[in-house]
Order: sequence, then structure tokens, then C-alpha cells
Amino acid sequence: MSGGSRLDPWVDSYASRAHAMRASEIRALFAVASRPEVVSLAGGMPFVQALPLDMLTETAQRVLVERGAQALQYGSGQGDVTLREQILEVTGEVGVTAHPDDIIVTTGSQMALDLVTRVFCDPGDVVLVEAPSYVGALGVFQAYECEVVHVAMDDEGLIPAALAEAIATTRAAGKRVKMIYTIPSFHNPAGVTQGPARRAEILAIAQSAGIVILEDDPYGLLGFEGEPPRALRADDGEAVIYLGSFSKTIASGLRVGWAVAPHGVREKLVLAAEAAVLCPSNYAQLTVSEYLATQPWREQIKTFREVYRERRDALLESLQALMPEGTRWTIPAGGFYSWLTLPEGLDATAMLPRAVANLVAYVPGTGFYSNGEGRQNLRLSYCYPEPERIREGVRRLAQVIEGELELTQTFGTSHMLGDVSGTSVPSPDLQ
Ligand code: PMP
Repeated sequence: MSGGSRLDPWVDSYASRAHAMRASEIRALFAVASRPEVVSLAGGMPFVQALPLDMLTETAQRVLVERGAQALQYGSGQGDVTLREQILEVTGEVGVTAHPDDIIVTTGSQMALDLVTRVFCDPGDVVLVEAPSYVGALGVFQAYECEVVHVAMDDEGLIPAALAEAIATTRAAGKRVKMIYTIPSFHNPAGVTQGPARRAEILAIAQSAGIVILEDDPYGLLGFEGEPPRALRADDGEAVIYLGSFSKTIASGLRVGWAVAPHGVREKLVLAAEAAVLCPSNYAQLTVSEYLATQPWREQIKTFREVYRERRDALLESLQALMPEGTRWTIPAGGFYSWLTLPEGLDATAMLPRAVANLVAYVPGTGFYSNGEGRQNLRLSYCYPEPERIREGVRRLAQVIEGELELTQTFGTSHMLGDVSGTSVPSPDLQ
């Protein structure tokens, strides 16, 4: 031990990557925000109460009674082979076909993000991500000391011309672009979805630049109208690594996700996974496998869609009715989130303490950028609260925004009125 501080005597011993890992300064506020009187439009927690819990209990019990010795034992680093076959049935819904050997089961898709980055990225390598992007992915890229470059989006997601330009500029600066990380369907946090033509353009750009696409698709089956969007991976098995998860279609607490990857990459991912955790939980995998084999999982996904559609409608109707002029938001066609832009001059990070005091919480936009942008934005999640609570939350938020507008007219920008910012990555409980 050399040096350090009284609070943490080991600080000088840490790897350089550990210095980039910081808890958000807004974490303390969220301790208050989780009180029952606060309407939280912050967390992205799936509404697991919509599951038939008695059926799941029975399923989990049956696994233990009938296959306990296997469920409680170590398993394969790549994941249970029957489950991998069943995963292909699920990914078939978004057009992804593969061999079960091309799949690795992971502890949530979060772990797959970690493994892919571990396999592909050296410190200083560039990862292109959407502007804004998923906070949990930014945390992984930061942990591996990648340089994150944000690429502009519009109402149809990542803009192809901006992607091509970002690749050219980054390469011209002598940097190596290792991955394009994208959430094409029902984006977290932006709430937008790439159309088919846009997907084809993005794929073509990645192919001609020779850069792998990391396609993160935890919400793909949670669309509110029509068929699920066709995955990018459905049209190229070599250029795309596809990540999926049962967190939103069954239960996030089971922690079962997966990656579909080209053969060589998949082999490396398995080696990386074995080094990290030896193998994913057999008990969780067998429970998911039994659930898929014996329960009407497609019907259950329909139920989830209906629950979330009703909540999305409650959010959009009340935003439309109550938000002051100059406020804009995206219209999600699925998933959990809408991305709100405040009127000019307002700052979502500075506003958060006043929102929490008015008993409503959201995640400020800066959490979804690695470069301090997003101050005028915030993410609203409609997945967890009941529709009535969502309406009440929006009413409270509208009051706060109106208050901010009055204050800025008197004192200048809300940025100057108090600041709890920090552009560090928010804690995982905000995802
Ligand atoms: N990717 C995205 C875009 C997410 O929103 C989430 C969870 N919020 C994850 C990955 C991780 O999900 P899990 O590890 O539960 O599969």
C-alpha cells in the first residue's frame, strides 16, 4: 500500500481503468426518489408483476425436483444446449437464424456487452455509439478505457450519413474504430426505431468500412404495433454480433441473456466468459428453458406489450395535455422510454432536485452521454408505474418545468440556479 487517502487507502494501487469508474453524484437523490410518495419515471424496471407468478414458481420447483442435480451443478461455459435451441425460436421472431453453436448464454445481455468489449477493445480504441446511448453500455466501454464517439440520431435512430462521417473523421485522426454499438429497436433512452431502409444503409456502411456491429436488442419483441422489426443480424451473420435477453420478455431477476456471434468470435466469447464466471447459472437457464417449453411465452409477451402500450399512451396523452410550449419528446412505438427535450435554456440535471422535491423523478440526459452533452434532455420510463401514477408524475413534472421557465425569466438559465451534475455514468439502478 502506498499513499492513498483515509477514505480509501488502496486508491493508488488501482488499475487506471478503475479511476474512470465513478458513481453518479445524482445517486444520493435517487435514494430519496425511491420513496413511495415519489412517482419515479426514472428506473427501467420491467413490470414483472404481469407474470403468472404461480406458474413460474411451479416451473422453478419442477426444475429442482426433476433435474435438481443438474440445476445445482456447474454447467457449460457456452450455456445449456437445449436452451440455446429454444433461444433460436425466440430470435426467429426478429428474423435471426443461426446454429445453436453460434450462441452463448450470458448472465443478462449486460454480461455479453462486457465480453464483446473485452474481446474486441484495447484502451484508446474507438466505439461509435448513438447520441444518446444506453448508460450500462457506456459504463462497460469506459471500464475497458475505450474512447466513445457519439453519432447523431433523428426520429428514425442513428443517421447513416453521420455514421459514415464519424468513421471517416475518427480514422483520419489516426484512431482505430472497433465497433458500432446500436440499439435499433425501441431505443434506450431515445425511444426511437430504425426503419428497414435505414437498417440496410447502416449495415452497408459497416460492411464497407469493415467494422463489426454490436446490435443490442432487449426490447425487439415489445413493439406496440405490427410485426417485430427485423434485426440487422438477420441480413448479415458475419458483420453483426446480436445481443438478446429474457429480462424484458420473462424476468430480469433470472439474469439470462445471450449473444449470437460469428463462429470465431463466439469461441473467444466463451473463453472470456469462462474466465469471468466459469458458466452461467444452470438453475436460471433450466428454469427459463422449462418455462419456454411448458408455458405460452408468446401470449405472455403479448400481455407485456399490452401493459406497456397502455402506459405509453398514458405518458404521451398527459405530456400532450400538460407540457409547456417548447418541450418536445419522442413517440416510442415499443419498449420502455421516451426522450424529452426541455425548452431552451433549461437544464435537466440542475432541475432534478426540484423535481424530486415535487415528488417526481427522471434520469437527466447527461447520464446517456460520455461527453457531458444532454443537459437539455431527460429520459422518462413508463414501464413500471400504473397509468394513473404516470399521469400524476407528468403533472408534477410539468409544474416543475413551468417553475423553471419562470425562474429563468428572472435569473437567466436554470444551469446557474444550482447544479448536482457530474457527467459520470449513473448507477445501474437507474437503468
Ligand atoms: N441493453 C439495453 C439497451 C438495456 O436497456 C439493458 C437493460 N436495461 C441491457 C442491455 C441489459 O439487460 P440485461 O442484462 O438485464 O439483459
